[in-house]
Amino acid sequence: MEHFEQELLQYELDTLAVRAGQVRTHEGEHSEALFLTSSYVFGSAQEAAERFSGAQAGNVYSRYTNPTVRAFEERIAALEGAESAVGTSSGMAAILSTCIALLKTGDHIVCSRSVFGTTTVLFTKFMQKFGVTTTFVAPTDYAAWEAAFTPATKIVFVETPSNPLCDVIDIERLANITHKHTALLVVDNCFCTPALQRPLELGADLIVHSATKYIDGQGRCLGGVVAGPKVLVDEVLGFIRSAGPSLSPFNAWIFLKGLETLRLRMEAHSSNALALAQWLHAHPKVEKVFYAGLPSHVGHELAAKQQSAFGGVLSFRVKGEREAAWKVIDATKIMSLTANLGDTKTTIVHPATTTHGRLTPEQKIEAGITENLIRISVGLESVKDLIADLERGLNSI
Ligand SMILES: *Cc1c(COP(=O)(O)O)cnc(C)c1O
Repeated sequence: MEHFEQELLQYELDTLAVRAGQVRTHEGEHSEALFLTSSYVFGSAQEAAERFSGAQAGNVYSRYTNPTVRAFEERIAALEGAESAVGTSSGMAAILSTCIALLKTGDHIVCSRSVFGTTTVLFTKFMQKFGVTTTFVAPTDYAAWEAAFTPATKIVFVETPSNPLCDVIDIERLANITHKHTALLVVDNCFCTPALQRPLELGADLIVHSATKYIDGQGRCLGGVVAGPKVLVDEVLGFIRSAGPSLSPFNAWIFLKGLETLRLRMEAHSSNALALAQWLHAHPKVEKVFYAGLPSHVGHELAAKQQSAFGGVLSFRVKGEREAAWKVIDATKIMSLTANLGDTKTTIVHPATTTHGRLTPEQKIEAGITENLIRISVGLESVKDLIADLERGLNSI
């Protein structure tokens, strides 16, 4: 067996994305091996006893460890600049496992109001049941972040840029506020990925990912990952081993291959999104475009400092009401009408009646989810064709 891990640590992100974490077997395979096995065979009864007791390192059962999952975890850790990482069965499993492992009854979460909808449901409906409360804060209101802390606050949870309005949150500033209150800053780095943003370098304590999105990048598999210091990741790993939201080795293998092209894809998503945002910004039937790559966006300067590109998701308000937004969406022929994002295929959605449909009318107003808002996750098709696709819809208003 060859193991490249140690020598790789000195390399650049592009090299790590292709090379980190691979352990070549005696077969000498060039591409990463896929270990589809639920358990592992021991050489003797004594070895079995030692593996089970932990006296000897090694695989026992794939709910605990699997070599393909391990390779993915090591590659993600290398890309995020983390000491350790653990794979999970989905992005939500990564968030749930982090909460269960690090929180107890009576603890408190401070969370950005603009996070993935299911994260809000998990915190309010389920963590609440076990006596963990959550306060939601407007993402860029730092006085509100400060004011939300209580002595019981253990976790601060944030996504940047936010979905769907692309609010950019200052990770370093929020990390300082969080650490003053001896809590942990958890960043959902799904929208940027380590190719565009490295929150641990800015002071965050833990990263969670939905690998389902850009890490796969081609809309095939569900998965997630938690990355950070070994002491924290080990706590999360302990829960995953006992509860079972483990990452499938097949999905880990898909993600490993996804990571190899991640930076190239993220840059292409970003340049397509920027071109589309600029075109929309100049269109007479568009009221407002939300994309941090536009100099008119309030978060532009911060995003330029904190990220290496502006990402693939944008949203915009058409002039008119729900009917106008639906007309634009229904007129598109290339874009897929689906809530998924981070795919090579461009997706288009009406947040007010789908991804954010559960919000009350007041919550929608607070969050800026108006009836004329459309979100696009810009894929890797020709931007010329994407513009023509939207133009048809806008012309029909
Ligand atoms: C999709 C998503 C999740 C949840 O991930 P799943 O893999 O669908 O469980 C969490 N956070 C963000 C930002 C997402 O977009």
